[in-house]
Amino acid sequence: MSKRENLYEVVLEQVTTACEALKANEAVCELLKEPMRTLNVSFPVKMDDGTIRVFNGFRCQHNDVLGPTKGGIRFHPQVDMNEVKALAAWMTYKCSLLGLPYGGGKGGVEVDPRTLSKAELERLARGYIRAIAPIIGDHKDIPAPDVNTNPQIIAWMVDEFSKIRGYNEPGVITGKPVNFGGSLGRTEATGYGTALAAKLAAEKIGLEMKGARVVVQGFGNVGSYAAKYLSEFGAKVIACADYTGVVYNENGLNIDDLMNYVANNDRVVKGYPGATKEMAPADWIDVECDIIVPAALENQITEDNVDKVKCKIISEGANGPTTPEADKILTEKGVLIIPDILANAGGVTVSYFEWVQNLMNFYWTQEEVIKRLEDLMIRAFESVFKTYKETDGVSMRIAAYMVSISRLGDAMQIRGWC
Ligand code: GLU
Repeated sequence: MSKRENLYEVVLEQVTTACEALKANEAVCELLKEPMRTLNVSFPVKMDDGTIRVFNGFRCQHNDVLGPTKGGIRFHPQVDMNEVKALAAWMTYKCSLLGLPYGGGKGGVEVDPRTLSKAELERLARGYIRAIAPIIGDHKDIPAPDVNTNPQIIAWMVDEFSKIRGYNEPGVITGKPVNFGGSLGRTEATGYGTALAAKLAAEKIGLEMKGARVVVQGFGNVGSYAAKYLSEFGAKVIACADYTGVVYNENGLNIDDLMNYVANNDRVVKGYPGATKEMAPADWIDVECDIIVPAALENQITEDNVDKVKCKIISEGANGPTTPEADKILTEKGVLIIPDILANAGGVTVSYFEWVQNLMNFYWTQEEVIKRLEDLMIRAFESVFKTYKETDGVSMRIAAYMVSISRLGDAMQIRGWC
C-alpha cells in the first residue's frame, strides 16, 4: 500500500498515541477507531457531447457524539474511501477541539474538475448531492467546500438539495456565496486562522512577526489567504508554491498582487513577474525561512524530504501534510508544529457561524464573525499549548488530540455510550 492509501492508518496511530497519553477509557478509543457510517455512490452525468460518464463518490460520517457531522467535499482524481475516512476523522477531532457542536464528516468525488466544462461541473455537483441526499441535512450531516470545491459549486448543491426537500434548506451545506445564505468572512476564514495560529506560536517562542520569513506551499484558497494575513501581520512571504512552480522574492512577495495575478492566470503562480527567482514545484522545501505553511494536500513533508526543512514554526493549512515519521523528526529538532486540526480549523469554525446564521435567519457583520473566530481559535490554541507544556514528551499534535479526545470521551460517557 502506498503512503497515500495508508492515510487512515496515520489517523489511527495519532489517536492511539493520544489515547495512551490520556489513559482514556478503552471503549472511547474503540468507538473513535472506526467511522459510524460510510456511503459509496456511483452516479451518471451527461457530458456536453451527449455521452454519459459514471462517477464514483464517497461520504463518511465518522462520529456524531457532539452533534451532526460536518466536513467538506473534495473533487480530486485520487479521492478514495480511505482518504475520505481519514479526513472525516480529522473533522471529528477538529470540531471537538474548537468546541463546536459537531461531529466529523467528509465527502469526495473521484474527478479532475479541470477536465470538465462549467455546465458539466454543475451537473456533477447536482448528481453527487442527489446521490448522498438520503444521509445529509441541516441537523444530520452538513457538507462544505474542500479541495477544488468553491461557493458556486456549493450554491448548485444547496439548490439541488432544496428542490429535493421541497423548501429552501440553506443550513444543509456551508460555504455558500454571501448573497445566497453564506457568511461574511467564510472565504478567508481558513487562511486567516492558519496565519493567526502561526502568529500565536511565534509569540510563544519569542519570534518577532515583523520581518519573519514565510514559505507557503499551495496557493489555493487556504494558502493565498494565509499568505495575505501573514504579510498583514508584518511577516515577509518570500516564497509561494503550487503544482506549477515556486515564485520567490527575498524582499517579500506582494501577496495582493500575486493573488490578482493568479486569478487571471489559470489559478497558478507560474510566470509571476514580481518574483526574482522561479523554482521547480518541489523546491519550496529547500527555502530557509522562519515559518512554513503547507496548504496543499496531505503527505507533503515526509521522511524523504524532512531533512531539508529549515524553519522554526509549521502551521498546517492543509489536512495531514506532515507524516508521523516527519512529525517526530521535526519535533525532536525543536520545530513547533501547529497541527492541522488546530491550524486550519478557522474554516469549519466560520462554517459553524454560517450554519447558526442560517438557522436564525439573522446575519452578522464581518467584524462580529472575525471577533468570534479569533476568540475560539485563541481559546483552542491556549488549551493545546498548555497540555503540550504540561505533558512530558508529547508534540503539539498529540496535545491537540488529547484536548479533543477528552471532550469526546466526556460526551460519550454523559450520553451513556460507554
Ligand atoms: N473542508 C474544510 C476542512 O477541512 C472545512 C469544513 C467545513 O467548513 O465544514 O476543515
